[in-house]
Amino acid sequence: MMDLNNHIRLALLLIFMCLSINFEANECSNQTSSLKNQILEVANNPNTVKWMKQIRREIHEYPELGYEEFRTSSVIRRELDKLGISYQWPVAKTGVVAKIGSGFPPFVALRADMDALPIQELVDWDHKSKVDGKMHACAHDAHVAMLLGAAKILQEMKNKLKATVVLIFQPAEEKGIGARDMIQENVLEDVEAIFGLHLATQYPLGVVASRPGDFLAGCGSFKAKIKGGLAEIPQHCLDPVLAASMSVISLQNIVSREVDPLDSQVVSVAMVHSESAHELIPDSVTFGGTYRAISKKSFNALRQRIEEVIKGQAKVHRCTAEVEFFGKEHPTIPPTTNDERIHQLGRQASSMIVGEENIKLAPTYTASEDFAFYLEKVPGSFFLLGIQNEKVGSIYSAHSPHYFIDEDVLPIGAAIHAAFALSYHSHSTISYL
Ligand SMILES: [Zn+2]
Ligand SMILES: [Zn+2]
Repeated sequence: MMDLNNHIRLALLLIFMCLSINFEANECSNQTSSLKNQILEVANNPNTVKWMKQIRREIHEYPELGYEEFRTSSVIRRELDKLGISYQWPVAKTGVVAKIGSGFPPFVALRADMDALPIQELVDWDHKSKVDGKMHACAHDAHVAMLLGAAKILQEMKNKLKATVVLIFQPAEEKGIGARDMIQENVLEDVEAIFGLHLATQYPLGVVASRPGDFLAGCGSFKAKIKGGLAEIPQHCLDPVLAASMSVISLQNIVSREVDPLDSQVVSVAMVHSESAHELIPDSVTFGGTYRAISKKSFNALRQRIEEVIKGQAKVHRCTAEVEFFGKEHPTIPPTTNDERIHQLGRQASSMIVGEENIKLAPTYTASEDFAFYLEKVPGSFFLLGIQNEKVGSIYSAHSPHYFIDEDVLPIGAAIHAAFALSYHSHSTISYL
């Protein structure tokens, strides 16, 4: 049994522990709210907001497709020059990579894509696209403006920055190869974490959504060629038309019969082609399509089954098949898989800016993003930031000719980017001298 003195000592010890835990928690929450206030002071400054809107509108008026973003990247360089931020250009033809901070580790990357789409804008507003058949219908104009906004915040708060921030303005996301080409130019050298943000009309303005682990689908295309023989003597010839037809049907069975219904996957044959006349069986039939899966394991397994099914059906019909997966025009984009730790940091940074009530757990999506290439190299996380607002018409999905953005999102996105970079250093897994 404990005597009275020991009881008193234990009680005093517990009171002291509670007070010190409370003090540390209060100090931590004071630091967070002070950081938040400082970030928002710059982000919500009317001059900053006006400046970001102007940049976004200028880029929106002159949309450029992948690897043609010369004007867009000149706008970025002009603004970085004004902010006194050094950068590297050109990187992967039109890309710009800027750095803010001491130049010492940890290096943390923030990414914006710059390219537009071959779509005719159908929204009538003052800053409608001035280029026929081209439009920023996927918010990449706003992504650039938000990352420049973050650059301004970070530059003004340089003394608080304990990481070196790498700002990646990348070309050709819509082509699915911009990120891959930027990586080949070593933009991830020394980078230990990467953060990406995409506007989304699925969520109300200011809501941030993402999920740890598997998030967006990998996307690939395939092209198969089945070779056969002569038509007039079917008993002696080989029939690639029959083999291709059976392949198309069998491909549908992969998802419906072999895959867990809760593990979303897609196989679609979208093209069948043969050169022949009515009375001739062609030498060969070419067909192709796309496939998608959310997890890396399913994505790789699906690709393997597509090849097996086509080659198997060709063999059943005594034909031969070639299957190609890595088209230059339609490159394979891996699934977007968020690192759990970086996702948590991104979530905390977002919550600091928009409040915990505006953080949502997103479902998995069958859409793809070439941000996935960065995630194959360094841990990172990709987030959606809501812009849905019926009052201004920001309700149409990305890639719609009616796509419209609620520009009130610009300071929110800039602040989230900056909050991630400013809070990252305290969570770096590597200790630096
Ligand atoms: Zn897009
Ligand atoms: Zn996009």
